[in-house]
Amino acid sequence: MLKFSRTITALLVLLTTATAQSLSPEEERIAAAARDLSAEALTFLERVVNINSGTLNLKGVRRSGKAFDKPLRRLGFDTRWIDMPRDMQRAGHLFATRKGNRGKRLLLIGHLDTVFEKRSPFQKFRRAGDQATGPGVNDMHGGNVIILYALKALQQTGHLDGVTITIAFHGDEEKPGYPLSISRRDIRTAAEQSDIALGYEARIPGTGTIARRGSSNWRLEVAGVQGHSSDIFGKRYGAGAIFEASRILNAFYEQVRGEQYLTFNPGSIVGGTDVAYDPPTTTGSAYGKTNIIARKVIVDGGLRFITEEQKEAAREKMRRIVARSLPQTSAEIFFEDRYPAMPPVPGNYALLAELDRISRALGYGPAEPFDPGERGAADIAFVADLVDGLDGLGAVGSGGHTPGESLDIPEFGRSIELSALLIYRLTR
Ligand SMILES: [Zn+2]
Repeated sequence: MLKFSRTITALLVLLTTATAQSLSPEEERIAAAARDLSAEALTFLERVVNINSGTLNLKGVRRSGKAFDKPLRRLGFDTRWIDMPRDMQRAGHLFATRKGNRGKRLLLIGHLDTVFEKRSPFQKFRRAGDQATGPGVNDMHGGNVIILYALKALQQTGHLDGVTITIAFHGDEEKPGYPLSISRRDIRTAAEQSDIALGYEARIPGTGTIARRGSSNWRLEVAGVQGHSSDIFGKRYGAGAIFEASRILNAFYEQVRGEQYLTFNPGSIVGGTDVAYDPPTTTGSAYGKTNIIARKVIVDGGLRFITEEQKEAAREKMRRIVARSLPQTSAEIFFEDRYPAMPPVPGNYALLAELDRISRALGYGPAEPFDPGERGAADIAFVADLVDGLDGLGAVGSGGHTPGESLDIPEFGRSIELSALLIYRLTR
């Protein structure tokens, strides 16, 4: 009896997974349309990659946006260019919206800029067999084009009418404009009117990104009393700024380190009797002598975390360590928010489960959570507190941010299929 029921259960499990992991005839049509469009998508990608759109090339970023404007309007989207204040020196963003009355409301996130400015020797799209190289082929002109062609496949099969989708193409993802309250204002407004965010940063086959760590900066400023080195440790001159900075950093290492996904890194340190440090360029200089007690130390560092709670707790521990000064020294620590964290909430897992079913049904194997410890920060994090999200749906390739950045062409087509079906299922 026991054996029998086990067999039944096993059969049932097999049956349910089989149905969950197969495509409906309509979905087969969508996947076929996506496959048919992949060659056209690659031609379009070549065109946008050949427009230099380094973050600081404002004209180029706008031109990159312009390339998407007409195709998106043809898909029934209302498009608008959002300018940033002049003194921010960023190109602005392209937003596109389509309003309907069915399914989940989606926010699709891409970015128009790349790290390759005009002076970079890496400027052109080149194809060699199943690989292409070029600035932004995967990070992330490739992702933007995947969004466009996934939507095109849905339009051709009659599934775009009635959906509610906002596309946010930022012009400054690689070097965000400050203040973030302005440069990321519109994406937050869009998220408030959406249920789900999908991010098109590079895809790592077999995975989806359900969490990304946030990042913050910190700066430590330590002061000591200048005096002759022979008087160090005495009542009047105390320990000096360099010993105090060392105590603090060592205590960070001993007492704050250890939690999963929490890392902090002192990136530079300058100390001595005369110290200059320029935060925007992160360069500094110091003068000191072996027989003079150091007067000043500046340490510039970064902090990465998986939740806002983890960030706040780490900052609190750091502040307490900084407050306990060695004799005749004082120190202050300043924190600056950069990217918020995207924590792995259940809704994100549910989106990944859907991607996993689609991926298996297409014969591309499972999609598992990617380790957030191995991914940098991205724009989707700015809306992680407002909507469920899944990132890493974009192009597959390697060498992002290097002059060898490449795209895997067969995988590029697969990304379009995966996204067309994911958007279809979420907007039904
Ligand atoms: Zn990117």
